[in-house]
Amino acid sequence: NLLANQIAAGEVIERPASVVKELVENAIDAKASQIHVLVEDGGKKLIRVVDNGQGIEQEDIPLAFVRHATSKISNRHDLFQILSLGFRGEALPSIAAVADVTLASRAQDEDQGLTYQVKGGEVIGSQAANGRLGTSVSVRDLFYNTPARLKYLKSKSTELAKIVENINHLALAYPEIAFHLAHNGQVLFQSAGKGNLQQVIANIYGRDVAQKMRSITGQSEHFKIDGWISRPDLTRSSRDYLTVLVNHRFVKNFSITNAVVQGYGSKLMVGRFPVGVINVELDPLLVDVNVHPQKSEIRLAEEGELTQLVTQAVRDILGEENLIPDA
Ligand code: ADP
Ligand code: MG
Repeated sequence: NLLANQIAAGEVIERPASVVKELVENAIDAKASQIHVLVEDGGKKLIRVVDNGQGIEQEDIPLAFVRHATSKISNRHDLFQILSLGFRGEALPSIAAVADVTLASRAQDEDQGLTYQVKGGEVIGSQAANGRLGTSVSVRDLFYNTPARLKYLKSKSTELAKIVENINHLALAYPEIAFHLAHNGQVLFQSAGKGNLQQVIANIYGRDVAQKMRSITGQSEHFKIDGWISRPDLTRSSRDYLTVLVNHRFVKNFSITNAVVQGYGSKLMVGRFPVGVINVELDPLLVDVNVHPQKSEIRLAEEGELTQLVTQAVRDILGEENLIPDA
């Protein structure tokens, strides 16, 4: 079983940033409104995610470390209509197979919580605790028992950059959640959790960038989109500044970013890309998130309808551009 979990870890947990993503997604699924992420040495030494979500009942905590024991899917129907970010029940057992994990949680309807420690797949501690409502998960010494994976990690600063990138995507996807990221005692990112997407864009890219954004919206038979895109005079040489979120999940999808670029037409120089965030909402039945374990690539039905909608929404707002005087 440890072997199976280590193999699963190879697929789900590639690096510290994947641990951060899985733990934060669990906090979001638990309906947290505040999520604190604390990292040491690029996540190689310590990753701690603290949330104020609904917590885990004491008797369920050991189950959280059992493979495929997700609490989020109860039947086959659910698998094709995934409403939570997690659904495989693989993250915690995978992480605990290749690190030293301490989880502390107290559930809403219980007055005592539990601290539970699993290292290299073995339970090494369990004790009652009077913690705050919610959950904290500390992951120490990632890959300590899998030297090949440890060696594959990049420098602390590169690993940290990937963590920051993941937190940025999650903060853009959930403006109503207050995020806080600190590295070696230094605060790197904070969002207010007031539900204001333009403000989160300002937190990430700066206020000057956020002020050069235009809001876009659109709707078609199967899709609803909204978001912010930069004026044509604000561009970057990479499409990494164009974040696409499908049902609150960050996705890598060239057709959608291309559709945005199409909308700018000749207003955009070749090789330049706008800054922006596009939220796409659709019936969960139309998106297959099962394609890739890290879930950043997805398969969409009716993709042509969506790309048309995106291009048109961009054209609509840029068409008005000439009418809007510079602030
Ligand atoms: P999944 O998210 O796919 O269900 P995980 O391995 O990530 O699987 O988590 C296992 C289970 O542990 C979850 O189904 C959930 O019940 C519980 N859990 C994990 N993290 C949290 C958290 N921060 N708050 C509440 N419950 C959690
Ligand atoms: Mg999960």
